[in-house]
Amino acid sequence: MVYADNAATTKLDSDAFEAMKIFLTEEYGNASQSYSFSTFSKKAIKDARTSIAKCIGADEEEIFFTSCGTESDNWAIKMGAGLDGEIITSSIEHHAILNSCKAVEKEGHTVHYVPVNQDGIIDLKKLEKAINGNTKLISVMFANNEIGSIQPIREIAEIARSVGAYFHTDAVQAIGHVKIDVHKLGIDLLSASAHKFNGPKGIGFIYIKKGIDINSFIDGGLQELGKRAGTENVASIVAMSIALKNNIAQIEANKLKLLSLEKRLLSRLDEAEIDYVRNGSENHIPGNLSISIADSEGEVLLHRLDLKGVCVSTGSACDSVNTQISHVIKEICVPERYAEGTIRISLGKYNTEQEVDYIADAIIDIVK
Ligand code: PLP
Repeated sequence: MVYADNAATTKLDSDAFEAMKIFLTEEYGNASQSYSFSTFSKKAIKDARTSIAKCIGADEEEIFFTSCGTESDNWAIKMGAGLDGEIITSSIEHHAILNSCKAVEKEGHTVHYVPVNQDGIIDLKKLEKAINGNTKLISVMFANNEIGSIQPIREIAEIARSVGAYFHTDAVQAIGHVKIDVHKLGIDLLSASAHKFNGPKGIGFIYIKKGIDINSFIDGGLQELGKRAGTENVASIVAMSIALKNNIAQIEANKLKLLSLEKRLLSRLDEAEIDYVRNGSENHIPGNLSISIADSEGEVLLHRLDLKGVCVSTGSACDSVNTQISHVIKEICVPERYAEGTIRISLGKYNTEQEVDYIADAIIDIVK
């Protein structure tokens, strides 16, 4: 099997796996209890929070653990709606954002969806036009999950700051893959999910800048400063912090490796004269390779690649039952002849040159 769907999920980092074992066996104490048996778990959570904060240039009290990226996104959008103003987002967000926006629209809130150009980059002029005196939250993803395009985050944050709105970014695809310093970039809220950076599934976090007055998102106990109740998932929190630290330590090396693997794959397709277009912008998440092949069907390509042992996806994984052209591919206006033949190959740090050659040969064989 050749796994090339790292934007959907990643293999667990082995250090992260080792570190989580003790919390599932010996050190199972509830971190909220005050007896000494819980001291180890409590300290582990504190250390993980400090480490994660350091990885993104935040302070530890700005990190709140959640169950996944989707929860973090819901928290940000619903917090924005709670400010009783308007929300602005992009037209190519993940459904965790789009459907959260739909939910708050049903409750009477106004959301503006700003279009992107053919590279999947938000139109800043249109973003500015959508702003009015009632804009309270601007939420634009750091990097797109289907095509990898990285948004001009610093500029968007500056626009939000200048009009007194909060800026949230869904950084689920970006954290651990590109350098992020939330304070330097002017980000107010940021969503992340461990399983996209070689951490376990079912754990994520949200960064919320100090001073932002937030209501609790899940009511119950006093965990996470009373803002997100629920007994802490110590093993996963610890594993998430280690996976993030390891990925960030290798960020430059991984980037170079993945860009070279991308190039290798595309040049093999070019040599075989495969008629395709590459989607996304020059500045993209390393390894995220969205290609649209002329006169093909993404769904057929996916299944035939599967028969050859290759895992890729057509649109976003959360949307794999929906076989229509994805909203992202529509929004970036991929020409009709190509749009239906879109696949996303997302390479990760464990992929090799041999695997990339195998994927390229499999695509060439299927298309020819
Ligand atoms: N946001 C983006 C950009 C994603 O790619 C994903 C997952 O594909 C999510 C949010 C949801 O994250 P999770 O799977 O942790 O709920």
